[in-house]
Amino acid sequence: MEQSLKIYNTLTRRKETFEPINLPHVGLYVCGPTVYSDVHLGNVRSFLSFDVVYRYLRFLGYKVRYVRNITDVGHLVDDADSGEDKIAEKARLEALEPMEIVQKYTIGFHDVMRIFNILPPSVEPTATGHIIEQIEMVKKILGKGYAYEVNGSVYFDVRKFNADFPYGKLSGRNIDELQANTRALDGQSEKRDALDFAIWKKAEPSHIMRWPSPWGDGFPGWHLECSAMSTKYLGEEFDIHGGGMDLKFPHHECEIAQNVGASGKSGPRIWMHGNMLTVNGRKMSKSEGNGFTPEELITGNHKLLEQGYSPMTVRFFMLQCHYASTLDFSNDALRAAEKGYARLTEAIENLDKAQASDTSDIDVDKLRQSCRAAMDDDFNTPVLISVLFEAAKTANQVQSGRRKATEKDITALKKIFEDYAFEVLGFRREESAAEGDSSLTPGLMDLVLNLRKAAKLNKDFSTADQIRDRLNALGIHIKDTPEGTEYKIN
Ligand SMILES: [Zn+2]
Repeated sequence: MEQSLKIYNTLTRRKETFEPINLPHVGLYVCGPTVYSDVHLGNVRSFLSFDVVYRYLRFLGYKVRYVRNITDVGHLVDDADSGEDKIAEKARLEALEPMEIVQKYTIGFHDVMRIFNILPPSVEPTATGHIIEQIEMVKKILGKGYAYEVNGSVYFDVRKFNADFPYGKLSGRNIDELQANTRALDGQSEKRDALDFAIWKKAEPSHIMRWPSPWGDGFPGWHLECSAMSTKYLGEEFDIHGGGMDLKFPHHECEIAQNVGASGKSGPRIWMHGNMLTVNGRKMSKSEGNGFTPEELITGNHKLLEQGYSPMTVRFFMLQCHYASTLDFSNDALRAAEKGYARLTEAIENLDKAQASDTSDIDVDKLRQSCRAAMDDDFNTPVLISVLFEAAKTANQVQSGRRKATEKDITALKKIFEDYAFEVLGFRREESAAEGDSSLTPGLMDLVLNLRKAAKLNKDFSTADQIRDRLNALGIHIKDTPEGTEYKIN
């Protein structure tokens, strides 16, 4: 296999030629969601970026094991070592069991991934399903002397570790600089140093999510699960670890420290970080009121949205930007993406009507090479899309008779779209989502009807009616009955 793929490695801060450790296998780990609330669009962008990485590696012929975890315990509200567990807090607020929260939002997350045609990973391990592995890792780190126990909790000793291995390499910080930016410990803290982080936390009597351990009942620290599960499924050394930019520090820095602290090996060779999504130039967040959900985007039911956009329009819009750049979301940009995507799919359809000639004046090989070169250059999807537009222009010219192509060249041109638009970029023919893929329809209908139900419960009748009317326009008729809402597709 020819190795021409280059990937920007956040750890070394340069593009490197990708050389898998164990050809033809590739190990890819991506930090998954903490399942305590609905997925927002920023999360979708991150998972979509790595979906394309996964798709392209498979397209190149690698046998990829893609591991993306579900965080269902240990992620505390302040993202560090204090505050309530995010899932336990939500369970308290919604008066549910923590595992009911996990179930509810895991299903919601999977629904959203399917809607955007984001492929499921090869393994989707949960933190609660790997408590034993995490306890074993804590024991190893303690055994190497890089952690200490205080009153039933175990903390990673960052200063001690840093004396043997540099800490902060990934995020480009040194320990003294970090120290200067960290709040001093108050007298209450069990930690010896403010930079230390929990790898096992003692559970207070009221804490529901708890497991027995050699240090008493407790639960794992948030950073630990990714180290334990990537080691279990991909080994102490593997190829690529991805995640959002916001996870680089402290989460990924702590992962490296734990890996080295336990085994002497640092885990992934390549670190990839996806950039964030802004809305009208501002960071997407709940407090800004601009953090709309994928469902709101599709229905157009949000004050910042002038209309609804189809999932493939959104996918196209996101892939028009390189994963490592920030992407700004606006109605203008979305409408432009809607038009662009329609132009591309129209050209692909036109190709079916093209008449073959005896001779050709189009260069399909060159187009194919340009597609490959774009993706080989650190998964450069915007450049690939521009090459696909060139191919679309050629397709239109052949169809209208302005240029000539042999049967073989027309087939080769179709194959470019099959390979790069559908397989690599993951676009899906939208009509097939409605007609062919009937397995998706019940889930989508559930989702939409639940949104309508929620709107009615909130006395937001105009939204409820809008959903009904838009469904009607699509030929889906709904009827409210005492048992719930029924639907019929014409
Ligand atoms: Zn992680």
